[in-house]
Amino acid sequence: MQVTNTINREKSAALFEEAKQYFPGGVNSPVRAFKSVSGPPLFIESGEGCRMQDVDGNTYIDFCCSWGPLILGHNNTAIREKVMATVAKGTSFGTPTQLGNELGKLILDHNSFIDKIRFVSSGTEAVMSAIRLARGVTGRSKVVKFEGCYHGHVDSLMVKAGSGLVTFGVSTSAGIPPEFAQETLVLPLDRPDLLDELLAKHASEIACIILEPIPANNGLLLQDKAFLETLREKTKAHDILLIFDEVISGFRVGFEGAAGHYGIQPDILTYGKIIGGGMPVGAYAASSEIMSHIAPDGPVYQAGPLSANPVAMAAGYAALQQLVQPGFYEGLAAKTEAFVQGILNYCKDKGYAFSMPHIGSIFWIAFTNDRIKRADQIDPASMEKFKVLHHELLQSGVYLGPSGYEVGFISAAHTDAALAEASEKICAAIDVAMKG
Ligand SMILES: *Cc1c(COP(=O)(O)O)cnc(C)c1O
Repeated sequence: MQVTNTINREKSAALFEEAKQYFPGGVNSPVRAFKSVSGPPLFIESGEGCRMQDVDGNTYIDFCCSWGPLILGHNNTAIREKVMATVAKGTSFGTPTQLGNELGKLILDHNSFIDKIRFVSSGTEAVMSAIRLARGVTGRSKVVKFEGCYHGHVDSLMVKAGSGLVTFGVSTSAGIPPEFAQETLVLPLDRPDLLDELLAKHASEIACIILEPIPANNGLLLQDKAFLETLREKTKAHDILLIFDEVISGFRVGFEGAAGHYGIQPDILTYGKIIGGGMPVGAYAASSEIMSHIAPDGPVYQAGPLSANPVAMAAGYAALQQLVQPGFYEGLAAKTEAFVQGILNYCKDKGYAFSMPHIGSIFWIAFTNDRIKRADQIDPASMEKFKVLHHELLQSGVYLGPSGYEVGFISAAHTDAALAEASEKICAAIDVAMKG
């Protein structure tokens, strides 16, 4: 198979130059700037099914899927029709709507881990609110997070470990007072021994432990179920709330997300991405008892004029209704498995140090044969290979998120033929990356 190097990205390049006059770094979300890979970011004009087209007329099989939300692919007919019909009646009222009820009921009817839900407008807002809720319920201040998990740009969670292994956090962004960061304790994943140490010292100060049960923002750091079970037991023993941040895994590895996949009941769950069917929606959810602490029932304040926006609720409903159909997730997982195995077999025959951790319809490309469970096990040097891979794939018409730390997503709109085509192109690009 031939990789052409003649792709024209002139219009994207020109628009990016223009955008730099308007937006910091030319973008409205930093990873879009393509800093970790080469060339200007693509300016996308349209999407249909598993493909999207840029302003220069190039088409790409898309494995970024808007960073996860598009589990049904681009321009899904049912979502589009429901959104259009809703928009025709007005876009926002700042009042309750029946559409909000419908999405709330659909979710709660099909998720045994939650009794009540509150809609917000982004994953970050969901997590921020969940942390406030945990603090409000427990009357404690400290939060524990894990290195390698991302929870949006919440002040208290833009934090990494300082020196030493069990430690108070230091912020990973300017503009966060050290006093805030110090309220956050940071642990490595997969180290129950360090969790014990931390609990021995600080348990009575800790409001919650938050993690991505399927960490998918720093590679795909699949955890042993036993570690998640340990977290559940230890938090319960110390009256610490366990928060599963399911902004990626929710509605992705199953309608009940990672909680359903592992059969573990957390205290609070956060959602985003898929829940809005391509529109900005986030949510946090818990038992009726915990949710009764939220205003107006309780003293924990949280509000938003565009929360449960009717157009966004319509999109979410039209999307999630398709996800509850029998066999939806099984079909998606089977397609992903076949796609991944095809690439793995190719790399094995070639003797490449290469693996593709995957779960449900999420996969990650890792230039190593080691199983990686923690952020510090990722070799930064391997990202050079990803850069070559990404460049080659842009030439051949396959779009991956523009960083080797990002996972890929497969949607229901990825046909077997498109996956076969992508697989062939990915294998060819891996050949180039391995030579580089
Ligand atoms: C994307 C993400 C967030 C933040 O959601 P936004 O909608 O980007 O604010 C939080 N947690 C996880 C696990 C995410 O993947």
